[in-house]
Amino acid sequence: MERKEFRELTSVEDARKLIEQIRVQPEIITLAIEKAVGHIIADDIPSGVDVPAFNRSIKDGYAIRAKDTYQASEPEPRKLGFIGSIPAGCTDKFFVDDEEVIEISTGAPIPEGADAVVMVENTKQTGESVLIYQPVHIGENIMRAGSDIMKGERVLRKNTRISSREIGVLASIGMNEVPVKRLLVGIISTGSELIKPGETLELSKIYDANSYAIAAAIEECGGTPRIYGIVHDDEKLMEEALEKAIQECDIVLTSGSTSAGAGDIMYMIIEEKGETLTHGIAIKPGKPVVIGMIKNVPTIGLPGNPTSALSIFNEFVAPIIYNSLGIKPAFKTKVTAVMGTGIRSGGREELFPVGVVRGKVYPADKTSGAITTLSDADGTIEIRAHTEYIEPGSEVEVTMFGNVRSPDLMLVGGQCPGIDLLEEMTGLVFRTLNRGSSAGFAAISSGTTDIACVNMVDAEGNYNSSTISKMNLENIVLVKGYRRELGLIFTPDNHVDGLEEITSLQLINRNRGSGTRAILERELGTLAEAKGMTKSEFIKNIKGYNSGSKTHRSVCDAVKSGKADVGFGIRAAAEEAGLGFIPVAEDEFDFVIHKDLLDIEEMQAFLSALQSEEFSKRLQNGMYTYEMTGRIISSF
Ligand code: AMP
Ligand code: MG
Repeated sequence: MERKEFRELTSVEDARKLIEQIRVQPEIITLAIEKAVGHIIADDIPSGVDVPAFNRSIKDGYAIRAKDTYQASEPEPRKLGFIGSIPAGCTDKFFVDDEEVIEISTGAPIPEGADAVVMVENTKQTGESVLIYQPVHIGENIMRAGSDIMKGERVLRKNTRISSREIGVLASIGMNEVPVKRLLVGIISTGSELIKPGETLELSKIYDANSYAIAAAIEECGGTPRIYGIVHDDEKLMEEALEKAIQECDIVLTSGSTSAGAGDIMYMIIEEKGETLTHGIAIKPGKPVVIGMIKNVPTIGLPGNPTSALSIFNEFVAPIIYNSLGIKPAFKTKVTAVMGTGIRSGGREELFPVGVVRGKVYPADKTSGAITTLSDADGTIEIRAHTEYIEPGSEVEVTMFGNVRSPDLMLVGGQCPGIDLLEEMTGLVFRTLNRGSSAGFAAISSGTTDIACVNMVDAEGNYNSSTISKMNLENIVLVKGYRRELGLIFTPDNHVDGLEEITSLQLINRNRGSGTRAILERELGTLAEAKGMTKSEFIKNIKGYNSGSKTHRSVCDAVKSGKADVGFGIRAAAEEAGLGFIPVAEDEFDFVIHKDLLDIEEMQAFLSALQSEEFSKRLQNGMYTYEMTGRIISSF
């Protein structure tokens, strides 16, 4: 096959028009009601029975002729004859005559002759007679046959998505199966580097995220996914997989192999086996997104990067599924929100990943290709080709990544188990980006976080305040947090006695910009001085000093797995990982917060949790609140 170049890219607008025209006919299948949740009802459902099927009592009491109660009152009750009892489910025939009552349970059939039920609370049984203290009118406390659902009445509409309520309705009209639409969407993940989640990760391999993320997205749209698994980058294997999927499915999606290079195999296969509808869509990420038709089966090549694959799915595949099923999304796929910060764009139409926090939009774009974008983003915004800059405060529409719950508070900076405790105590959902203190300061400065979590020490040993004044941060406050024991972390069978040993060991350091790294550097400076060396001379002798783990937890992982002999971090993390620890220093872990966010409910909850007695008590080993905890400092 000859390689094609993507010369004539389809504009997003034209791609949307094309998508609008694609409809596939779903199959109609019958499903047991136990299995039907989430599916789409294929036809109007009429009831085959009356509900209830007989006149039934809606109270515990006595079935009676209403006219016998008209004279009844509290001081002068009517005395009527007791002739028997009807429990729920009773099939015996009874007859109530004048001046008679029959005891009846809720849900039991009304006996012939009776036209009302007196509640048990308004009666008193004495031997063979019953005193009635209140009158009832005809029909009182009786649910008539068919009054809930009449036989022949439409109870459920075609194209309704089945939830617990619909299952309840179906069961109550006696249906144990339901006709549903089945739109089978096949997924093929291509890439020789992919392995299945659950398998052991080998060098140069990555886990196949797309098969599962896209399958779930298909289900969220009401479609039925079929995973064909991983196909290596081999033309023949891809053709075979595609052929099988085309045979079996209504729509086929592939992921990967669409970028230039080894890439356009997908495109060529579609061209050869069917018809290419787009020559790639002019959008980032995802160019070229291939849309084709093979034997009347829409075949769409999604990009390999999971965030891109999901973004393109939401924009260009989800509408095909909804339209083909004849339904609207079950949740808000688009929300209007306000830019929390500005975003610059590169002159090309773009689906830009963003987080949405309390209706504010933040960029969630790390380098493209970062899997974490997916967990840190709630959706995408569309940036037009001619848009160079989106102003903070402007309104945008976010296409959500499925049915996501966006977080209440955004925290960027150093990692600490104390933050997890605060999250648990507030009952809020935090988005915590563990990027180290410098990233926290940068984010608070650019307005892309609510809270910066920081432990940055200066030469005098002051925490965080000098960084705030050095960076000229305005309209912010420093909320003092807690103290943490920092020290050397090692495996129990490879005990380290002190910082002096560090030059003979393999170190796993924290990332540049981490406060903890700065504290280690400071300690090493003091040690070097004592030895009559310069700090940089001393540091040069430490193996692994230039390494950079992003969290205390990943430092512990490196030590545990034997990649390093020693790490530097908090006691809480070492203990959590079952590692040895000796203290070297103590830091102050603080929070930098925008002044105008201090009064919002979520921040109030955060602050009161921090200031609470419970927090002090529950704070993990090696972390302590002190007299400054929760204090708000606003001048620097
Ligand atoms: P490709 O379009 O095949 O060049 O893939 C682009 C990037 O996405 C590469 O880094 C791939 O390793 C990655 N990728 C491709 N398919 C998947 C998948 N199913 N799950 C996770 N990552 C993937
Ligand atoms: Mg690939």
